[in-house]
Amino acid sequence: MITESNIRFSKFTSMKKLFFFILINSFLLQCAQKKVDLTKPQQQTKMEDNTHTNNPYYSRTDKTKLNVSNEEWKKILSPEVYAIAREANTEYPFTGKYNDFDEVGEYYCAVCGNHLFRSSSKFASTCGWPSFFEADKDGVIYKRDSTHGMERIEVLCKRCESHLGHVFNDGPPPTGTRYCMNSVSLDFQRDKK
Ligand code: FE
Repeated sequence: MITESNIRFSKFTSMKKLFFFILINSFLLQCAQKKVDLTKPQQQTKMEDNTHTNNPYYSRTDKTKLNVSNEEWKKILSPEVYAIAREANTEYPFTGKYNDFDEVGEYYCAVCGNHLFRSSSKFASTCGWPSFFEADKDGVIYKRDSTHGMERIEVLCKRCESHLGHVFNDGPPPTGTRYCMNSVSLDFQRDKK
């Protein structure tokens, strides 16, 4: 039997459904906007990208420690660099611009320009990320990382504390160390001839 209270109840249920529909849609839209597809090497086609005109903190010579908020970095960095360097995401293996790369030169932090590695310490690793057996001692710092159910040592830029990757003790001689890095966090400068 259709009564007035049944109609009211039915209208209320429809309104509730509509409300949740709008809520879920706006949530999904937000997620889609924020999502960065790290499986594709976007912006990784250029081997040397030394244009940092929008980044006032970038310097290859200034060693002064930076204290810049992620809110500020988000305005400066590309979504890919921000996601990996500031939110400790990992680029998809075998996609990074420096994974299969053996040019001679220096590697700098893509966020702040701090010197991190020399190409002579890079080795052909099969792990899918650019790997080095030695880092610039003034370039990196280390932090314990217990995320994802693993015990690892995270490697960060000493100047800006951006995430670079992790370090493992299964590297080649002479150090036996493997710095497993994200290409996105690195900038390469080829030696001048
Ligand atoms: Fe840095």
